[in-house]
Amino acid sequence: MAETESAPGAQEFIPPQADTIDQLRAAAAGCRGCELYRDAAQTVFGRGDESARVVFVGEQPGDLEDQKGLPFVGPAGRVLRRAVDDAGIEPGHIYLTNAVKHFRFELRGKRRIHQTPDRVHITACRPWLVAEFARLRPAVVVVLGATAAKALLGPAFRVTRQRGELLPWPAAAQRPEDFTRVPVDNTGKVADAPEAQLLATIHPSAVLRADNQDVAYDGLVADLKVAARALR
Ligand code: SF4
Repeated sequence: MAETESAPGAQEFIPPQADTIDQLRAAAAGCRGCELYRDAAQTVFGRGDESARVVFVGEQPGDLEDQKGLPFVGPAGRVLRRAVDDAGIEPGHIYLTNAVKHFRFELRGKRRIHQTPDRVHITACRPWLVAEFARLRPAVVVVLGATAAKALLGPAFRVTRQRGELLPWPAAAQRPEDFTRVPVDNTGKVADAPEAQLLATIHPSAVLRADNQDVAYDGLVADLKVAARALR
């Protein structure tokens, strides 16, 4: 797949009157904000508890997620669920989403091989992430891997250097003003977003690619334990 130079972005596909995640999800099904919708099977929007205290942001759906229309249902999702459990985070009270909502891949024969989204895709899709956060009230935001970090924290953030460190949310965000005012009802009234914390760690797919999977997994769990402690 050729690199895309520019994309109109998702903003025009977001209904301003959408109050709920379900309404956003329905609208996102028709998003044409960048070219990724053309080859992927469907939009894979966030899912989980809208009142979740922990919101996880990953990179993009994988092959299985694209087929099922649900985030984190493939091998990386299994790693994440196990790590959430081992870290002591209540799995029923989380919300899972991705920085980019369509699967980017290249075809090799019949196989669809994951391709990391480009900056243009991350930028095009960011309005959906902003819209989701406007309807969520997390105490901790967990950024999984470099793509999610680019989307939320900007290109200068290095997960390898700052993983496991609690940062103020939304103050640490790139363009925090995108996240600081949230709707309080459907009349257009807004208020300051509740203060929260953010923590970056590796994407669970990095555990599957690691030479020593046990060490990588233990590192992921150690980071998530920091998030779990921040909830108490
Ligand atoms: S990746 Fe995001 S911006 Fe691009 S078409 Fe899909 S939902 Fe829209």
